[in-house]
Amino acid sequence: MQAPLTLLSLLLLGAQAGQHWTYSVQISLRPTMHMEAADGTKYVAEQMHFHWGGGASEISGSEHTIDGIRYVTEIHLVHYNSKYGSYDIAKDEPDGLAVLAVLVEVSDYAENTYYSKFLSHLSEVRYSGQSTVLSGLNIQDMLPKDLRYYYSYQGSLTTPPCTENVQWFLLADPVKLSKSQVLKLENSLLDSQNKTLNNGYRSTQHLNGRVVETNFIYHPNQQSVLGSELQFHLTRIDNNLEYFRRLLNR
Ligand SMILES: [Zn+2]
Repeated sequence: MQAPLTLLSLLLLGAQAGQHWTYSVQISLRPTMHMEAADGTKYVAEQMHFHWGGGASEISGSEHTIDGIRYVTEIHLVHYNSKYGSYDIAKDEPDGLAVLAVLVEVSDYAENTYYSKFLSHLSEVRYSGQSTVLSGLNIQDMLPKDLRYYYSYQGSLTTPPCTENVQWFLLADPVKLSKSQVLKLENSLLDSQNKTLNNGYRSTQHLNGRVVETNFIYHPNQQSVLGSELQFHLTRIDNNLEYFRRLLNR
């Protein structure tokens, strides 16, 4: 079924983290988009935002690292538990939030045309607080092709208030963007001092005994299968796990 004309707002906003202000570009999502966890919990989409690096020395900006490798960019799709009815209520509840995290890989890839429209609108939100409207953006096309495999753990939001009430789902399959697309994301936005907005990620956190689960077999010595820096507590889930039901409906 064809979705009706979609209007999504794109917004550059700032959040105070300690003495530092961090900014991100955010796309508000429609509540018809949701995902369902393996235990049947339904999470409703609220917004998606981006973390990136750039700058002189540090070129990669993902918040998660996999086997110590930091990816160039990371996308967070923030959801709330549908039983709370709204993000504002859910955000203060112990089982209130879920984030679907997507890593971005850059190489000599061709332009990812699913990102062209989003990237072309960044010039309209160069300064904090600015917003614009995107029409006809297909969020599902902006996700990786393979949504079956992911890491999951209980954690916090990476921006204030960093409440420990987020179920994280980190997809194993990354999104691929061309170099010029990543450069555009890294260099389009300005901070409060009119400097290019770089390094919007939080440093990797200690596990603190958290259990990281995967729904696929983890082979630490096999380069082709993604592992995790969090591997010491990695729980290997059984081989015969059916693919978790992960439905992303628009
Ligand atoms: Zn985030």
